[in-house]
Amino acid sequence: MKQVIPYIGRFAPSPTGPLHMGSLVAAMASYLDARAHQGQWLVRIEDLDFDRNVAAADQQILATLQRCGMQWDGEVCWQSQRQHYYQAALEQLGTHVYPCACSRKEIADSRLRMGEAASQIYPGTCRHGIAAGKTPRAWRLRVPDGAASVFTWQDRLCGMQQQDLAKETGDFVLKRADGFWAYQLAVVVDDAAQGITHIVRGADLLDSTARQWYLQQLLGVPHPVYLHVPVVNNPDGEKLSKQTGALAFDRGDNDLLHEALLPAAAYLGLSLPAGIATIPEFWLSAIKAWQTRYP
Ligand SMILES: [Zn+2]
Repeated sequence: MKQVIPYIGRFAPSPTGPLHMGSLVAAMASYLDARAHQGQWLVRIEDLDFDRNVAAADQQILATLQRCGMQWDGEVCWQSQRQHYYQAALEQLGTHVYPCACSRKEIADSRLRMGEAASQIYPGTCRHGIAAGKTPRAWRLRVPDGAASVFTWQDRLCGMQQQDLAKETGDFVLKRADGFWAYQLAVVVDDAAQGITHIVRGADLLDSTARQWYLQQLLGVPHPVYLHVPVVNNPDGEKLSKQTGALAFDRGDNDLLHEALLPAAAYLGLSLPAGIATIPEFWLSAIKAWQTRYP
């Protein structure tokens, strides 16, 4: 008998608009992997960027998932209701965290001095305290120095990954200058709280994994297993998103099987038998195809 491994996965959309094909591919990948492992599939609404949230987009996303035949397990969770947990984690991190008084412009100016390669890196200005007369704006996590800043993990599809946080991100933000919680902290706290064992998401998040891995280590929570699937690009080669003109595929009464599910499965490289006629039939075949393609 095949051994069943404990599996809790999740899909974590931001309610910045209706689901588009890019987000459907990510949702489908996480759903199929959970079902292929006889695991649970949770949905979490990542609504911490109050400037980008679109009213009712969360309900629209949930309705589209259901129209696509993707039923989640348990209760949906909203990050906006969990902010006290992020505060508690920030406090738990103690002296690993420090206030930063730099404005966007000051960081950009020091990056210019560091050259093009350093464009994503925080220069460490406030590491040893804030200059007199300045007020704290954001909270940053100190990354380790030297060899300890190199993190290595295994991705199920992309293989062995390595990132040097000191060289590639620098001390990163956990609470933003606008008062919003940063994605990196919230996602680690919630994955741990929900007991997520497997993360399946778009490859655009591959380079966030080392930061999350380090936070998991500091907070003493388990590292999930990672699988990053290719992201859908528009014809200009940009990641499909609302900003790059991705359209909602669910118009309420259209044929989601042929217009959305089958194209998304093809994008994931799943070979399905011809003649699938219903959404339940689609999922039965897609789970089998997923097991072959992403064992
Ligand atoms: Zn600073």
